[in-house]
Amino acid sequence: MSQVTSSGHRGLVMDEPLLFEMDVEGRTGVDLPEPEGRSLKLGGLERKSRIGLAGVSEPQIVRHFTRLSQKNYAIDAGLYPLGSCTMKHNPRLNEKAARLPGFAMAHPMQPQQTVQGCLELMGMLAHWLMTLTGMPGVAMSPAAGAHGELAGLMTIRAALTARGDARKTVLVPESAHGTNPATAALCDYKVQAVPANPRGRIDIEELKEALDEDVAALMLTNPNTCGLFEDEVVEVAELIHNAGGFFYADGANFNAIVGRVRPGDLGVDAMHINLHKTFSTPHGGGGPGSGPVVLSEPLVPFAPLPYAVADGEGWRLVEHDDSGQSFGRLRSFHGQMGMFVRALAYMMSHGADGLRQVAEDAVLNANYVMARLKGTYNAPFPGPCMHECLFDDHSLKDTGVSTLDLAKGMIDEGFHPMTMYFPLVVHGAMLIEPTESESKQSLDLFCDTMLHLMERAQSGDAEWLHDAPHLAPWSRLDETAAARRPVLTWKPDPETNRAT
Ligand SMILES: *Cc1c(COP(=O)(O)O)cnc(C)c1O
Repeated sequence: MSQVTSSGHRGLVMDEPLLFEMDVEGRTGVDLPEPEGRSLKLGGLERKSRIGLAGVSEPQIVRHFTRLSQKNYAIDAGLYPLGSCTMKHNPRLNEKAARLPGFAMAHPMQPQQTVQGCLELMGMLAHWLMTLTGMPGVAMSPAAGAHGELAGLMTIRAALTARGDARKTVLVPESAHGTNPATAALCDYKVQAVPANPRGRIDIEELKEALDEDVAALMLTNPNTCGLFEDEVVEVAELIHNAGGFFYADGANFNAIVGRVRPGDLGVDAMHINLHKTFSTPHGGGGPGSGPVVLSEPLVPFAPLPYAVADGEGWRLVEHDDSGQSFGRLRSFHGQMGMFVRALAYMMSHGADGLRQVAEDAVLNANYVMARLKGTYNAPFPGPCMHECLFDDHSLKDTGVSTLDLAKGMIDEGFHPMTMYFPLVVHGAMLIEPTESESKQSLDLFCDTMLHLMERAQSGDAEWLHDAPHLAPWSRLDETAAARRPVLTWKPDPETNRAT
């Protein structure tokens, strides 16, 4: 932050030092008596020097982390237009349910008869997920969408191996999320891209060309990351099945069709569901997410362990597979319990009709943004969109302003930027997903701001946008250097104890 005040603070935005810069030797937040009658030495070992933790008091540490949290942009602070990420409001009811001590304090090593309610909740959530998707099985343990993809592809590979089929290729459309090819590569598959047609959907002729007896699976997102429904999806499923492969659907965009379309009816064999997107459990900052993967009949026997079942004696986790067909465990324990509680609370408070309305309102809001912006921003695929709308940088041509500059201008205006430069199928992409939880007022302010920034770009204000953000605590950072040469150690200046 530039030094415009003597304190370094700016209004009520604090210039926060590093924890280690606040360090005072011997200062501590706890005041415990010296241990009596015990040697301080651990088996003759004695600490020779400080272990390097910062000495700070409790009020200092509370303020430090509170101030840091206030520098963070969050869904509770404002609109989060990130396309594909589905940053929707997390209802407080979910949080209340997840904090009930019986859920919050449960431990995965507890005897199963003491956590019957938790297991029943997992069973109920599994039932909802299977009902909403029209699929006969679901593996609950994956910890995120990408982890669900891994579970899905490992299940597919186990099914193929069981029939003695060592297929080596996975097909991925050009508009796919980066996790799709990454997952296939992690599973040792060769990744082959399938181009999009001029309508922004998978090109059926190219798909036919690519399909042969070496293709294990196709990974398709529907609606896709251009915000478009893959309207030839039933034919796509038939083609892949006829070629002996499996149809993996990336379900990250399920919020656009939940309650209206069942992926099972479209011929899907496996699909992960990002509970932290569609069913409103918190995400960002690295988790915790949750990515259960629903499975078709031929894949169910190969699903990962464990899974919860109910019989005459109550609920239990099946941890061994006597048939030997399951590919085994994906991770420790059974899944993200706190996310399960939140997702089920969301489903039950909306009900079946409410979930359908979620999809309808999400699509309505995205089309509202599309309608307001498309005269000013270039929409590469005309016609209505699903839950997110896509623009390219065509309207910025000859202004000297890039998609990145415009996104940084959004920060000055108090908005988190939209998704930039993804999907890769259009130039300088701006992908906007408002979600159903935004009001008309907040959508209008967002659209007005987008229109204003384009006007600024087109009226020769390139310079100003190049240097944006101007009003944020930090101005434009060198993102390449931050990623390639991160400075992760702290060297104090001996005079000031500040980082050098
Ligand atoms: C978010 C997303 C993923 C990955 O999900 P994570 O939970 O972040 O691992 C995969 N595909 C698409 C289309 C997504 O939007």
